[in-house]
Amino acid sequence: MVLLLRYRSLTINPTPLIPKSHKFHTLQSFRNPNFISTPKISASSNNPTPTTNRSISDAAKFAKSVLFIPPGVEIEELTDDMVLPGSNIVIGPFAGHSQIKEVEFVKSSARARDCTKDDRPEIAILGRSNVGKSSLINCLVRKKEVALTSKKPGKTQLINHFLVNKSWYIVDLPGYGFAKVSDAAKTDWSAFTKGYFLNRDTLVCVLLLIDASVPPQKIDLDCANWLGRNNVPMTFVFTKCDKMKATKGKRPDENIKAFQQIIRENFKVHPPWILTSSVSGLGRDELLLHMSQLRNYWDQ
Ligand code: GDP
Repeated sequence: MVLLLRYRSLTINPTPLIPKSHKFHTLQSFRNPNFISTPKISASSNNPTPTTNRSISDAAKFAKSVLFIPPGVEIEELTDDMVLPGSNIVIGPFAGHSQIKEVEFVKSSARARDCTKDDRPEIAILGRSNVGKSSLINCLVRKKEVALTSKKPGKTQLINHFLVNKSWYIVDLPGYGFAKVSDAAKTDWSAFTKGYFLNRDTLVCVLLLIDASVPPQKIDLDCANWLGRNNVPMTFVFTKCDKMKATKGKRPDENIKAFQQIIRENFKVHPPWILTSSVSGLGRDELLLHMSQLRNYWDQ
């Protein structure tokens, strides 16, 4: 019944985005393939079948395909209030203290092997140049100087580690797709950032920032597909969602829907996603809570 209610609520949810969920049952499953080259399975966000004709197991399958269900949550126990607003993320027992009290810049590294070495978990933030990465980091930590550090000349192309609450790291990765960067520099970006993703044992998750104010960009999709192919766990963080009244082009909700449509074609289970705005603070607390459950589970 709960599932039927959830299913129904998804069909009337004003958020028009109903992607497949990310599997999150063990840390190993973070690394297990969630990326496929075969066609998608089930679940259309636009025309769901009426709930009355569906069995519980259909509803369970549907919930699994659209929601990110963390460890410790049984699908039969799902209720609407466990889903973070503006996202497909279910909050489970590992979510905990999420606010950032203290943040300190630790190190800029040119190569993955130069990064700080300890056992603390880290969450990396990645996106195209101008996607709103600095603004989001400032919004999360509520301090302007943090992301400014990584914008200092010479640090934009480095892996920047910030220690949060003395217990985990935010990692600010170089933006990709710089219009002004030469092809050689772009290749460098790929080489060292890919090295980081593939070799960083303490990496819990990548927040892949996607600008909701523009239509899906090939470079973002390529990045998502590369992460997926390499089993790097990711969460799509849609930025600039306050720009709901686009003066030209499509609205963010249309852009996001188009992006997710493409992702559904490549991923068996849709990674977690969340809507944010650094201007209005939309999604800030929710994203921090999501990050806390990823971290806390990783820490087990
Ligand atoms: P970065 O290059 O990815 O670090 O991007 P910035 O944080 O510097 O932001 C790029 C531009 O987008 C700036 O003009 C910001 O003011 C703007 N911006 C960033 N986040 C938001 C947002 O949430 N809403 C709106 N409307 N604009 C934003």
